[in-house]
Amino acid sequence: MPAPLLLAVLLACVHHAALAPVSPPVPVSPLVKSPSDPALGRILSSARTSGEAYARLGVLCRNYSRRFAGTKALVDSAVWAQGVWERDGLKVSLEPVSVRHWVRGAESLTMTAPVARELGVIGLGGTVAGTVTGTVVVVRSFDELGPQVQGKIVLYDVAMPQGVPSIKHYGATVPYRTQGAAKAARFGAVASLTRSVTQRSLYTPHTGAMHYDPEGTSIPAAAITVEDSEWIASLVAAGTEVTLTLALASQDLPPTPSWNVVADIPGTSSEVVLIGAHLDSWDVGQGAHDDGAGVVHVMEAMRAIQQEVAASGKRPARTIRGVLYANEEFGLDGGKAYALAHANEVHIAAMESDLGGGVPLSWDGKGSPAQMSWLGASLAPLGMPVREGGGGADIGPLEESGTLVSGLRPDDSSYFDYHHTDADTFDKIDSHALAEGAAAAAGWAWLMANAPAAAAGPIR
Ligand SMILES: [Zn+2]
Repeated sequence: MPAPLLLAVLLACVHHAALAPVSPPVPVSPLVKSPSDPALGRILSSARTSGEAYARLGVLCRNYSRRFAGTKALVDSAVWAQGVWERDGLKVSLEPVSVRHWVRGAESLTMTAPVARELGVIGLGGTVAGTVTGTVVVVRSFDELGPQVQGKIVLYDVAMPQGVPSIKHYGATVPYRTQGAAKAARFGAVASLTRSVTQRSLYTPHTGAMHYDPEGTSIPAAAITVEDSEWIASLVAAGTEVTLTLALASQDLPPTPSWNVVADIPGTSSEVVLIGAHLDSWDVGQGAHDDGAGVVHVMEAMRAIQQEVAASGKRPARTIRGVLYANEEFGLDGGKAYALAHANEVHIAAMESDLGGGVPLSWDGKGSPAQMSWLGASLAPLGMPVREGGGGADIGPLEESGTLVSGLRPDDSSYFDYHHTDADTFDKIDSHALAEGAAAAAGWAWLMANAPAAAAGPIR
């Protein structure tokens, strides 16, 4: 290639790359390095240096991948977690949970016009089975739905905005996945396709829960890749008719038994401080970030605190409880069952880790002004800011009965790249960031278990 032409090509490449979405740089965690309280210092140091969070996540991903509601892998992972925690010296129980059981079948999406091609596709969790052929109508909001979608396949080509925290943009985009089929069916659409909810894609379709309108028609619902969504949308915008055949063979089976895993470090009072994560994942990938990382944050926090309590002989003021919930992803069965089974206990505060294994940056908190000021004052020694925000789905039922809830907020800049896909695997985990998250969770539990009752008034 002649030099001027080569230069032009290179410049074109550079120019194009600058426009493509890129991952932001990884931030530094504000988590305290050496706190003044020696017990807190030993707990953080143990979680940071043991290597256990990373090792345990490796086992969870390797041996219990696709821990979806209704699977043997989910049940077996609960028994595994119980055994590991018992070897750590914790008192552990398995508590029964009946979980929804939906099974994915063969799936395909075939373009028949303007060209013949097989496309990547993944059924949304809970979709009905069916084979439909239709012309594609592209919309970018629910407001664009109308009589023109009658008898057609609706494609929601709604891009998840760039920028961090990604969770904020996820919340704004995910309704097209959860409600897209129900709303399109109201206007007579025959199927619903959603652009995968992610900021970046390497041709990865993302699944996730969806809900039908009980009064309406249930139409097949699936997600396609960002790449194909943009391509199809550009064809349709140029006036080209696009026809697709979507075939899904999923089935709904009767609910099956599963377990919540509950471990206690008894306190000197009966009040409970809870840290939790969900043991289940989607039926793709290994659930490494979602929520294997949260699971080992909680497991390692409990191990490090138990080690400190055993060595010092000093119990925490409140009982510290670690809970690994069954089935968050597909109906919150674990969180609901836990709240029902433990309704007579006083849960003073609960924290959930369900945003992946990135470096810990801040805490979310939700409660009364007195609860929030107590949370902020109690967590100050960790050095991570507390912001107003939700705790987590599994601890939602506790929040409804007045418990102060909190959530670990790690760097989530790449979390949604892998979320609910075959790419959510152990190789995406950074061992240092994971250990920092475990240390943060341990610090939260230790401080909230020992914090004096709020001066501002009743905290519950
Ligand atoms: Zn999750």
